[in-house]
Amino acid sequence: MIRRLQDIDVQGAEVLLRVDFNVPMSDGAITDDTRIRRALPTIRHLQEQGCKTVICSHLGRPRGRPDPKLSLEAAATHLAALLEAEIVFAHGTVGDDIEELARDLPAGGLMMVENLRFNAGEKGANKDFAVALSRLGRIFVNDAFGAMHRPDASIALVPGLMEQAVIGPLVANEIEALAKLVDSPKRPVVGILGGAKVSDKIDIVEALARRCDALLIGGAMAYTFLVAKEQEVGRSRVERDKIRLATRVLERCEERGTRVLLPIDHVVAEKMAEDAEVQVVETIPEDMIALDIGPSTVKAFSEELGAAATVFWNGPMGVFEMTPFAGGTKGVAEAVAASPAYTIVGGGDSAAAVAAFDLSERMDHVSTGGGASLAYLQGADLPGLRAIVQRGS
Ligand code: ADP
Ligand code: MG
Repeated sequence: MIRRLQDIDVQGAEVLLRVDFNVPMSDGAITDDTRIRRALPTIRHLQEQGCKTVICSHLGRPRGRPDPKLSLEAAATHLAALLEAEIVFAHGTVGDDIEELARDLPAGGLMMVENLRFNAGEKGANKDFAVALSRLGRIFVNDAFGAMHRPDASIALVPGLMEQAVIGPLVANEIEALAKLVDSPKRPVVGILGGAKVSDKIDIVEALARRCDALLIGGAMAYTFLVAKEQEVGRSRVERDKIRLATRVLERCEERGTRVLLPIDHVVAEKMAEDAEVQVVETIPEDMIALDIGPSTVKAFSEELGAAATVFWNGPMGVFEMTPFAGGTKGVAEAVAASPAYTIVGGGDSAAAVAAFDLSERMDHVSTGGGASLAYLQGADLPGLRAIVQRGS
C-alpha cells in the first residue's frame, strides 16, 4: 500500500508540499484557479496540524531559467486571499536564504517557493537540485497528480531523500478512481476517445481498447481511422503516417471482440471558424473538413453509453470551442452524465468541455491530470508513485 497523508501524523512537522499550480495565465493574471482551489483542503489540513509548510510547483515551460511571466507569485497571492492567511513568497527555489525563511515560519505557517522550472535541475532530474529541495522540510507530500508521470527532480527524486514521503489526498483520490477502471471494472466497459492527435494517443488507444467491451472514436482522431477503413474524409485532419497503426488497432479489436464505433455522420464546413456555414453529411465531400460528429453518431454513441457499467472518456468529439462544432461533444457529455455507469473523464480539454456544459458534478470522477491519467491507464508506472512506494516508509 502506498502511504498517504491521511495515514500519518504530521503534527508540527516541517512539510514540503508539491502541488500542481500549473494554472492558465494571461497578462500576469490567473484565468482559471481550479487547481489552486482543489489544493485548499490539503493546505488547510497542514495548517491545522501546526505544520511549517513549504509549497512548491511548476508553471508553464520556462526552460530552466527565470521568466517573470511565469512567476508563481500571483498564485501565492491568490492562495493567500483564498485561505485568508499570510504566505511568505520566496523569490527563489532553493538555497540557504530560502531554507532560513522556511525555518523561521511559525507553527501553521505557509511559504511558497518560486517556479521549480526556473531551475534547470527540475526537468533535468538533477540530484543536487533534489537534495537542495529536500532541505526545505522533513516530510514530503506529493499532491500534484498532473505531474506524477514526469521524471522531474521534485517528483521522482525528492521522495527518496526525505525522512518520510506520502501522497496527498488529491493524488489518493485520483488513483482510487482510476483503479476502478484498471482493476476488475464492472462490465460492460465503454471507452470514448477523441481529441486532436493520434500520434500522442495511439498507445492509449491500444491500452484502452484492451480494457473495453466497446470503443467509441470521435474527434479529429476518428478520421485517421476512417481512412484506415478506406472512407472518404475530404480535408479533415488525418495523420497519414498513423494509418497503418490505426488499421492494426482495428484488427486487434476485432480479434479480441472489442466493438469499435466510428462516426457515421459528420458536421462539415469549408473552414474552421465560428461563423462557418455547416452541413451534416454521411459522406464527407472532397472540399470539406469534418469538425464534429453528427447527430446520428451522437445517438449511436449514446445508446452504447446507456448500457455501460463503466465509462472512461478522453478527448472532445469535435472542435467544441466553436459553437457550430460543439454539439457532438455536448451530446456525448450529456449521455455520459445520464448513464448509470461509473464515469471517469480525463484530459485537459475534455474536462474543460464538461465544465463548460456544466456537467462536471454529474460525472463520478473528473481527472485533473490528462497525461498522468492516461499514463496510469496504460499501466505505465508513474515515476511520482514509484518514488514513494520504493522508499516504503
Ligand atoms: P484532451 O486535452 O482532453 O486530452 P486533446 O488535447 O487531445 O484532448 O484534444 C482537444 C482538441 O481537439 C480540441 O482543441 C478540439 O478543438 C480538437 N478537435 C476535436 N475534434 C477535432 C476535429 N474534428 N478537427 C480538428 N480538431 C479537433
Ligand atoms: Mg489537450
